[in-house]
Amino acid sequence: STINLMGSRFVDTIPSLSCDDDKSDDEYAFVRALRMSGGDGANSYSANSLLQRRVLSMARPVLVRNTEDMMMNLDFPGYIKVAELGCSSGQNSFVAISEIINTVNLLCQQLNKNPPEIDCCLNDLPENDFNTTFKFVPFFNNELMITNKSSCFVYGAPGSFYARLFSRNSLHFVHSCYALHFLSKVPEKHVNDKGSVYITSSSPQSTYKAYLNQFQKDFTLFLRLRSEEIVSNGRMVLTFIGRNTLNSDPLYRDCCHFWTLLSKSLRDLVFEGHVSESKLDEFNMPFYDPNEQELEEVIRNEGSFEINDLEKHVFDLGLSNNNNEEDDYEAGYNEANCIRAVTEPMLVAHFGEDIIDILFDRYAHHVANHASCRNKTSVTLVVSLTRK
Ligand code: SAH
Repeated sequence: STINLMGSRFVDTIPSLSCDDDKSDDEYAFVRALRMSGGDGANSYSANSLLQRRVLSMARPVLVRNTEDMMMNLDFPGYIKVAELGCSSGQNSFVAISEIINTVNLLCQQLNKNPPEIDCCLNDLPENDFNTTFKFVPFFNNELMITNKSSCFVYGAPGSFYARLFSRNSLHFVHSCYALHFLSKVPEKHVNDKGSVYITSSSPQSTYKAYLNQFQKDFTLFLRLRSEEIVSNGRMVLTFIGRNTLNSDPLYRDCCHFWTLLSKSLRDLVFEGHVSESKLDEFNMPFYDPNEQELEEVIRNEGSFEINDLEKHVFDLGLSNNNNEEDDYEAGYNEANCIRAVTEPMLVAHFGEDIIDILFDRYAHHVANHASCRNKTSVTLVVSLTRK
C-alpha cells in the first residue's frame, strides 16, 4: 500500500529543477549557473568583494538621506520591512543593512520617536550560498545591540528579483548594490560576437540594440514587480555598473574594460588550444551597463517611481586592491580574483573547471599590462526612487 503524502507530487518533481521552456535558456545554459563563488575560501566572493564594499561607501550618503526621508514621509511607522536584493554571500549585505538600521535609530533618537521593529529580507538566486551569509547574523545583531541597543529580524528570500518576491504592499525600503546589471538572460536574436563575451567596439549595432532591449525588458519588469510590493512613499536605492557614452558611440568599451580583458584571456586559451573557438563564441555575459539616459528612460516609462537622486561615481577595478598595491602583478592578481569570484560558476558551467586557474592567470597578466590605463567607459550609477 502506498502512503499518499501531501507533498509527494512536489517530491516527484525535485530531481529536475531546470525550466527549459525557452530555447535560448538551453542555448545559454550557463546563465542558470549565475551566482558568486560561495564559501569563504581564497577564491570566494566573500573574500574577494572589497571593491563592492567600497562602492557601498560611495552610495552611503544617498542611502542615509533616503532612509531618513522614508521614515519622515511615512511618519515613523512602528514596523518596517527592508529588502536587500542580490545580497550574495559574505558580509557586504550587512554593511548596507547596518547603515539603514543605524540611520533609522539615530533619527528616532534625535526626534524623540519610538524606534520601529525591523524585518530584513536578504534576497538572491536560490543557488546563492546563503549559509555563508547567515553565519554572520549573530555577529551583526551583536554589533547592533552594542552600537545602538537595537536588533533586527533577518530572513532569506531566495528567488529571482525578476519575479515577485514579497507580498503586496509590504516593503518600506529596498536596497540593491551591483546586482541589477545582471540580465535575466543573454539577449535573443543577438548575433554572437566572434571571440568576445560582451559588446565591443567592433560589434554590430544590432548587438547593442539586443542588449539594450533585454535590459529595458528586465528593468521595467523589476520596477513593476517592486511597485506592487512597496508601500506608497516607500523607497529604493539601486547601484549599478553603468557606462559613460564616449564619442556618442554606444558600442565603445575601453581596452582595459573587465569584459574586454576576460575576452582577451579566453582568446589566449583558444590560441593555446585549451578552449575551442566555437565554445568561446557561444559564451556571452548576461550583463548590461546602461548609461544615465537609458536608466532614466526606463524609470520614466514604467511610471511607478519618482527619481530622487541619480549620481555617477567612478568605477575602478583597482579598488579591489588592499592599499594601492605597489606591484603591478600583485594588483593584477587581486583584480583577477575579484572578476573570478563573480564569474567562476558561469565559466565552469560552460568551459569546465580545468581552464579556470590558467584563465585568471592570463587575466592577471592582462590587468598588469594595462596598469597605466583607466577604464573610462564604466561608471557606478546610484539611483534613488520613491514609490508614487
Ligand atoms: N550586493 C552584494 C553582491 C553583489 S554580486 C555586494 O554589493 O557585495 C551580485 C549578486 O546579484 C549575485 O549574488 C547574484 O547572484 C545576484 N543576482 C543576479 N541576478 C539576480 C536575480 N535575477 N535575482 C536575484 N539575485 C540576482
